[in-house]
Amino acid sequence: MRKHKLIKFILVSIISGLLFTGCTKKLDQHIGQTEVTKWQGNKKAAVSITYDDGIITQFTVARPIMNKLNLPGTFFILTGKLAGAAEGRFIGRSKDEIIRETASTKTDETNFFERASLIGFTGFSEGVLAHSNAGSLFEAGKITEAYQNIDTAYEKLRRSRLKNTEEVVYHDNPQDTTRWEDLRKYATEGHEIASHSITHPRMAVLDEANLLYELEQSKAEIYKNLGEQYTFSVECPYGTENERVMEYARSVYPALRNRMPETYLDEINRSSDDDPEVSKNEYVQWQRGPLTNSSMDLMKSWIDKCVANNNIWLVLVFHGVDNFGWEPKTAGELETYFTYIKENENNLWVATFADVTKYIRERKSIEISSKAEGDTIILNFTSDLDPETYDVPLTLKTYIPNSWEKVEIRNAENVLMDGVAIHTDKTGTYVLYYMIPQNDKLFISSLN
Ligand SMILES: [Zn+2]
Repeated sequence: MRKHKLIKFILVSIISGLLFTGCTKKLDQHIGQTEVTKWQGNKKAAVSITYDDGIITQFTVARPIMNKLNLPGTFFILTGKLAGAAEGRFIGRSKDEIIRETASTKTDETNFFERASLIGFTGFSEGVLAHSNAGSLFEAGKITEAYQNIDTAYEKLRRSRLKNTEEVVYHDNPQDTTRWEDLRKYATEGHEIASHSITHPRMAVLDEANLLYELEQSKAEIYKNLGEQYTFSVECPYGTENERVMEYARSVYPALRNRMPETYLDEINRSSDDDPEVSKNEYVQWQRGPLTNSSMDLMKSWIDKCVANNNIWLVLVFHGVDNFGWEPKTAGELETYFTYIKENENNLWVATFADVTKYIRERKSIEISSKAEGDTIILNFTSDLDPETYDVPLTLKTYIPNSWEKVEIRNAENVLMDGVAIHTDKTGTYVLYYMIPQNDKLFISSLN
């Protein structure tokens, strides 16, 4: 269970580069006008650095580089790999019965999901590959081929007269010694640990019981070992966008890196060549997956594009690091790239996948009204999001009379901040401050 917030508001003045002293006409009608800036800190874009598959070198090689630069990451882990957690298993009828039936009944739409769910857990050496290939064919719309693939695998399995070994094979897992206590430490460093299922299956070809087990049991293990905060995000394996999977996953996790359609958010996945600059939407989530041969220039150009616009949320998806994992990048490349991101931090909000998701939702849900009374602007905030979960500080921008030289911000009980930095833009004079969204009132007063 999470602790209640000890402090209700965090208010910090921002020393921003927005100050300029040109003589601008300030219009009274803007006084009290308040907006939540598009990104936290009034930055131009957001970047989330994410890792898939819980590969050991992500933690031992990439994480220390990020820590040195004070950059947070999101690690999507396979919970079944961790000692003490529930392993992957088949949920359903007797394995022997299902295997026997494959001898007399061909695979069709009535038994495909059950058979595809089981094949990886039969102990048959080719079972995991058969499951993964069937899933890949199915998602490509090659349904008949997917059924044939399953028939072939079970035929081989029956011939091999294999005894069930219950052995579970995990994705890209040549070596893994990560423990829950390690993950707890990484979380305290500011990183997000999130679910990537238990065993990395092709969820689109799992039946309901097995699909829910992979989603729910993975969440339960993270809840038990790390706490509720880390049960917010999920990445369903292979970047699937299968609508049936998305529906189940959305019922278990608030945020899916795969897809989370909103009218105000365009999504460009890793395999798409769409240009985020073409999107005129309020937000565009742009996923890029650096591969072994992705050049540094290309990777830096993604950052440059974020800074040149105001609506891009770049979600980087890394897999292997150094000697382990799929399409590895070297430590040297990561150091160069993360340093480049750090150098652009004046314009970039670097945050976990969960924090950016929460910020955008908080910003879209909050309603603000304001009125001026004498030397005070009274702001009223309402939001229907649960403040226990949606606790990422919003950056607020409120216009004040240009005659105000010293400003204090308080709520009903306390002075939250005095000596707030005052800025000017073409609309007028304003203050920038942070606030955790709650249903509450704020008072901004002149101390002239
Ligand atoms: Zn994966």
